[in-house]
Amino acid sequence: MPAERWTNPSSNAGSPAGGKRAIGDRSDIDRVRDASDIVRIIGEHISLRPKGREYVGLCPFHDDRTPSMTVVPHKQFYKCFSCGASGDVFTFVQKFLRMEFRESLEFLAERAGVQLTPLRQQSLAERGDGPAITKKDLLAANNAAAAFFAGVMKHETHGATGRQVLVSRGVSEEMIKEFRLGIAPDRWDGLVMTLGSKFGKDVLAQAGLLKQREQGGYYDAFRNRVMFPITDRTGRVIAFGARKINPDDEPKYLNSPETPVFYKSKTLYGLDLALRTIQQEKTALICEGYMDVIACHQAGFRNAIATLGTALTPEHAKELRLACDRILLLFDGDEAGQRAADRAAEVFFSQPVDVAIVSLNKFTDAKDPDELLKRDGGPEVFRKALAGAIDLLDFRFQRVAERLEGAGLAARSKAMVAEIERLVELGLANVEPIRKALIEKRLAQIAGVPEAIVRASVPAGRAARPNSYNNDAPTPVVIGANQQLTLEEHLLGCLLCDGALWTTLSERDKDIIAPVSFESDIIKRVAQSIHDLGEDGELPHMQSVLSQLEADDDARSAAIALMSRVDEQSGHDQNRVHALWRACMSRARGDAMLRSSQAGLPEPKSAGDASAAAVERLKLLNSVQQTLGPDRRKVPRPS
Ligand SMILES: [Zn+2]
Repeated sequence: MPAERWTNPSSNAGSPAGGKRAIGDRSDIDRVRDASDIVRIIGEHISLRPKGREYVGLCPFHDDRTPSMTVVPHKQFYKCFSCGASGDVFTFVQKFLRMEFRESLEFLAERAGVQLTPLRQQSLAERGDGPAITKKDLLAANNAAAAFFAGVMKHETHGATGRQVLVSRGVSEEMIKEFRLGIAPDRWDGLVMTLGSKFGKDVLAQAGLLKQREQGGYYDAFRNRVMFPITDRTGRVIAFGARKINPDDEPKYLNSPETPVFYKSKTLYGLDLALRTIQQEKTALICEGYMDVIACHQAGFRNAIATLGTALTPEHAKELRLACDRILLLFDGDEAGQRAADRAAEVFFSQPVDVAIVSLNKFTDAKDPDELLKRDGGPEVFRKALAGAIDLLDFRFQRVAERLEGAGLAARSKAMVAEIERLVELGLANVEPIRKALIEKRLAQIAGVPEAIVRASVPAGRAARPNSYNNDAPTPVVIGANQQLTLEEHLLGCLLCDGALWTTLSERDKDIIAPVSFESDIIKRVAQSIHDLGEDGELPHMQSVLSQLEADDDARSAAIALMSRVDEQSGHDQNRVHALWRACMSRARGDAMLRSSQAGLPEPKSAGDASAAAVERLKLLNSVQQTLGPDRRKVPRPS
């Protein structure tokens, strides 16, 4: 098998020669796929629940409200029945974790403990004016920088003052290790000297680790600071938060700039460490800063995470609602905290996740979790505060009720209309019916009006809002959920269920499912792939076809759709797949006979000719039926 077949065109896009770069051995890809458990990989990010032999969960590729995504372990693929997103474990990792193919291969290989055939490394010099700085370069630079800063932390003299800052805040050795805390040395060239030649100063600068001098040259962006590596959900370092060590320095906290691997509004600090507990407890705890998160983890609240000095965004909400169904928001009791809670209420309003506000100031005079958890009995008080969290809607309505207190009827109804309008803007019409009814009831209570009036003011549900946070173009649905498959499409689906059926085909049979038999270009490509594999002496099983269509997402989706339709139709029973195959094949052979006989008939020129043709056609049908027997009537007639 030529290596070019297993290259990923998207990774070649930036290559100057336009030449193909091998991205992985075929056998590597197969070994990694075999060793990866798609349910486990997807389940680490999205809560899945078993349903028969399959698993279902919220689809991360569209604004899903009901679990539309099915993961099929025995076929090792996933499919969303709403937006059509589908694929195998590689597709999922590439799309959800935004990795390129080679990256996803390396990521999954490491997870599964598979040793990959090494790729020849290109040195910096060899790369010349080659591809621009890639995400991979930035990630490598950030990870090396984290190791460098951690090394300085351990250094007896260079790390002493910084270590003291953490010790005085009560941060344990264990947490320093887990959060990979480090120290940026108190000099201008610590990082430049150590990593500059290895990674390229331009790369380090783009990662936000170096700054360029006006007169040329580079210097360290972070100096004399405690470094908090910011990771993505898989634990790769994508940026840094940096806290001052010298009290006279300003500002107190510095962050890496946004880069192609770091989007502030999407990132949650500590998510990689907290994700497992968030899934287990079905609850995420959102704090305000790095030190709060670390203090929570140290005290055993392992589901704590934080935004990076920004308000909560819909992107954050999306990251979380896939993994848990309850989010606790910790806010200060002050006016700024209240406003932040109000904003959060809006962000999460139409999300299918319960959100509750934790107000620490009702339980303690400690100003944040970090301070509280270091006190004797602090964790117990903290636990109480978490248990006393107020549902976000109650919180919002309490605020509305406060505003309405003592107001006259006119003012109350005006405020109520305004509130309903705001909630409608936030998606009230689309929240699930039970929650919607609850909201209407609460509103009626607060306003002191009958529920029917509130209900009448809320417009009926609309079509789902356009997806507001998924940048990927939607996968075109080649085969609609209710669309009848043609005979030939059924046959492709059967082959994808059991590639061994290919060996039963005669040359004439192969023509029946040749690419030219299909109208859709996408299905043509699936058929082509099946033929290519078959002619190469390989059975066109689902996995082989998906591998071969590696770079063709549309065709992969279509293949999965065809296979799953036939699989469902046959009740996941191989024998019934074979029966369907035989029935469709005999019908298709009959139709092929009909077509070839009709080809010899003259085109009808008049009504009389047409009816004569119809009579001919009837005769033929009769003879075909006699040849093939009654079996063919059982098969659905293709449209
Ligand atoms: Zn979907």
